[in-house]
Amino acid sequence: MVTVATIGAVMPDWLVRHLQTIGAMGNDRIGRQARTSRCVKCRAVILVGLDGDRCGWVARVDPLPLAPIGEAVALLAGRSSYALRIGVGVCELQYRDRWQILGSPAGTRFDVLAEHACGAGSLPSAPTVNQMPEPPPQYPPF
Ligand SMILES: [Zn+2]
Repeated sequence: MVTVATIGAVMPDWLVRHLQTIGAMGNDRIGRQARTSRCVKCRAVILVGLDGDRCGWVARVDPLPLAPIGEAVALLAGRSSYALRIGVGVCELQYRDRWQILGSPAGTRFDVLAEHACGAGSLPSAPTVNQMPEPPPQYPPF
């Protein structure tokens, strides 16, 4: 038996159960890997992904990197902030708690993104600090 996804792709039931069991995919087919999407209400471009390896919640964030004051404004408005962690084959959102906010201010070690709020407008932003990792060489250097 197979399950038909909303976009028409077919995925076997055993694979859906397995991915949900290991936390790689949520009930709405959102996985740990962040991906671009559109807000269902305002159609804004957002990033969507689970915000943790265990007990992760679905995070929907605006893709604009925040400055420290932008993160403060977002938190005061009741919005959460997330670190965008990028590596080879990895693009994940990580919920930022008070210790992470204090230890690594926005715009210093990695990009910090705010929870999406429809019609909230843009927050003070900073240039991106994430750098795309170089892929491993396909051929030996000799
Ligand atoms: Zn929206």
